[in-house]
Amino acid sequence: MDRDKILLTPGPLTTTLRTKLAMLRDWGSWDSDFNEVTARVRRSLLKVVHAEASHVVVPLQGSGTFSVEAAVATLVPRDGHVLVLDNGAYCKRAARLTTLMGRKCTVLEFGEATQVSAAALDEKLAADRTVTHVVLIHCETGAGVWNPLEAVAEVCARRDKGLIVDAMSSFGALPIDARETRFDALIAASGKCLEGVPGMGFVIVRKQVLQGCAGRSQSLAMDLHDQYVYMERTGQWRFTPPTHVVVALAEAIAQFEAEGGQPSRLARYTSNYQTLIHGMSRLGFMPFLDPAIQAPIIVTFHAPGDPRYEFKAFYSAARQCGFILYPGKLTQLETFRVGCIGAIGPTEMEQAVQAVALALENMGIASGEPAI
Ligand SMILES: *Cc1c(COP(=O)(O)O)cnc(C)c1O
Repeated sequence: MDRDKILLTPGPLTTTLRTKLAMLRDWGSWDSDFNEVTARVRRSLLKVVHAEASHVVVPLQGSGTFSVEAAVATLVPRDGHVLVLDNGAYCKRAARLTTLMGRKCTVLEFGEATQVSAAALDEKLAADRTVTHVVLIHCETGAGVWNPLEAVAEVCARRDKGLIVDAMSSFGALPIDARETRFDALIAASGKCLEGVPGMGFVIVRKQVLQGCAGRSQSLAMDLHDQYVYMERTGQWRFTPPTHVVVALAEAIAQFEAEGGQPSRLARYTSNYQTLIHGMSRLGFMPFLDPAIQAPIIVTFHAPGDPRYEFKAFYSAARQCGFILYPGKLTQLETFRVGCIGAIGPTEMEQAVQAVALALENMGIASGEPAI
């Protein structure tokens, strides 16, 4: 059937027809109409986290990881020392890119099923005074944990450490207020909770910090200071912009604002999440995380204990019904993930649960109950 499947994945995700239609035109990178769209998108992004007075937005071509890499390269001096608060796969990725760029990197480990701890961070910073920057993943998309941004930011502010926040899967959905929570850089992307299409990231950088960042990046493409200076001077992107992605994001942001902004988006995702959890528990499935630390963004479920279960077949069966699931990303346990984000509501979530029920039936599995 020639109909898009519903993506229950944390980006790319399901977008509205209006967002898709915005991509049916060609734009010149020098053209003032396109430059006006870029400027409008940058202004709107600042408003989402109330950072108009304190920060600037620097967009960057590429997927979200490109922007994380650029933020670390641009903000951290070459002799700086980064402490990564690690409770999952995206934290490990941030540590890896930091090391690859030649910055000293220390990892403070927490389990995949727990939040990072601001108290443990405080202790670590007291014990090692050489740390200059802390990296936090706001929502660890690996398992789905909602990390305590405000408490971590308070410790960093008190100890005068730079804070770099990967808010990729939380921006636009979970509350973030730059007037109360101090961060040097906060990174997100077009194709996550803003419900645009993938292809560009952006970094919200504290003005005072960015001023001192000239020449820090060892990379030409991953240099946010250079991108910023060029964009301020010309209104244009350095190097070819992802024009279709930018206009789709502008259209997605207009819908985000019309929906009621971040509080409304969080409310919709929360009701998606609740519909999912209730429906899946009816089928016997068990979520991996304690609900107290679970963000309503992506949910990890234990795989069913039935020996007939196999992710690939399960995935195909759900796909037949029009729903795309996501594999698990835990190091030890067999799991799978279901995203609650995208241009979908509780009706689609209810249908997704029915698709899962049918998938189990097709595989001859009576219940989603895990083995443990
Ligand atoms: C999606 C995501 C990223 C970026 O991943 P890409 O594959 O580069 O888009 C980074 N961090 C988190 C927490 C994410 O959810």
